[in-house]
Amino acid sequence: MCEPPGGAPPGATRLERLLGALSASGHRGLSLLRDALSPPRCAACGEPAPASAPFCAGCLATVEPPGAADGGLPIVGYGAYGGALRQAVQNLKYHDRPELGAPLGALVAEVARGSLQGRVELVVPVPLHPRRLAERGYNQAALLARPVARALGAALGALVLERSRDTAAQARLAGRDRLANVAGAFHARRPERLAGRTVLLVDDVATTGATLSACAAALAATGAVPIGAVVVALAGARREPQVVSLRAPGCR
Ligand SMILES: [Zn+2]
Repeated sequence: MCEPPGGAPPGATRLERLLGALSASGHRGLSLLRDALSPPRCAACGEPAPASAPFCAGCLATVEPPGAADGGLPIVGYGAYGGALRQAVQNLKYHDRPELGAPLGALVAEVARGSLQGRVELVVPVPLHPRRLAERGYNQAALLARPVARALGAALGALVLERSRDTAAQARLAGRDRLANVAGAFHARRPERLAGRTVLLVDDVATTGATLSACAAALAATGAVPIGAVVVALAGARREPQVVSLRAPGCR
């Protein structure tokens, strides 16, 4: 029923099939052209989807409310890490689908707008280590952060943080090990420009929030004011839905 991402979906026109075949052979420009000419496709399964939503109806039905992340930093997710959200995030990160950053970022922007009280000046994505960035060709968190910054009328600080240690993949570690793994892995570039600025962090998935907390600590060390984080999906969270507010200083 669901085609693997990147292949020509059922019902594709001859032009779409041709462009699909060419882009599958490694032509990034043709891949972008194919996306521009194609009708909107589900970010998870690749079937046709309404222009107003990133998922087809079947995949949308698998999206569950996010629950709440543990830990000190307020983190808001669009949904729980499962179903179509999990598939779409994996398509974005591991299947060379940078164009999914915009529709998934729009979901993150939606929850950011709904939970934010006060004003955020700077939207900062969790950075990749330069080696990982070179492998993937793009930072998925930066692609997600762009529509968030636009929706909030904030500046995008895509290069504000750098990841100075190539930490082992967080997904393979238990909670306490995750904290130790990322502590001190992030540093702020040009810290003198950050003092006093309210910052919202953006990432694709949060599990324990350890990575986001380490980023928040690096920002706070410069005098910036990290007020929380927004993500596509919360993994391993307590299941009961909970309203989390992202409060800028001075908002009660
Ligand atoms: Zn779908």
